[in-house]
Amino acid sequence: MDQTGLRGPAVLAYAHRGAAYLNITDRCPVACVFCAKRTWRWRYHGWDLRLGAREPSAAEALARAKPIIEQLRPREAVFCGFGEPTSRLAVVLETARLLRAARPQLRLRLNTIGLGDLINGRAIDQELSEVLDAVSVSLNTADPEQWLALHRPRDAFAGNGFASVLSFISACVDRELETTVTAVDLPGVRVDEVRRLAKRLGARFRLRPELRVNAARLEYRAKGGYN
Ligand code: SF4
Repeated sequence: MDQTGLRGPAVLAYAHRGAAYLNITDRCPVACVFCAKRTWRWRYHGWDLRLGAREPSAAEALARAKPIIEQLRPREAVFCGFGEPTSRLAVVLETARLLRAARPQLRLRLNTIGLGDLINGRAIDQELSEVLDAVSVSLNTADPEQWLALHRPRDAFAGNGFASVLSFISACVDRELETTVTAVDLPGVRVDEVRRLAKRLGARFRLRPELRVNAARLEYRAKGGYN
């Protein structure tokens, strides 16, 4: 047990499906019903992604990612953990700059819930477009009410969260970031509507399988999903 009360060294980077993943925060503005972090006790395929007070600087994240990148030679590096990376926008930007300088051919992608504008109190698409190649936005629904039910945002993000996510997606498309809207395959979600919305916003679309049932998901299922 270290001084933060967490066991073992923090996992700041890990390899998965031919990519290097950077875990820079475990803080989220939402509590998605499909999130696996509680059921999986913060472990993703064996990596303990809980950071607590051990969130890294850009230099620390890069130092952990470097051996993975050198050994694996991945096609891309992805900012993604059990938290919202844009909660630490400065670290995302600086780490991406360092990676770009070290490995110009490496594709750089952000996985996000899309609330970065609200989190940071300003539009962040331009800053992202200067250092990233792609963003993947977990939207999951075309229905604002269902968005609330699925993502259970904190109060500060509930009022105009959905609208802000759509605006963020459009802005990323306009900046020519490769922008993909994703949806988890859940009962009650009208996938075709999400796909159509993504197309209307100019983004790609990808349907994702649900990782694993958790308690919130069971409750959601018991209520018959959202209709
Ligand atoms: S944004 Fe990701 S890590 Fe955060 S609650 Fe949702 S699924 Fe979990």
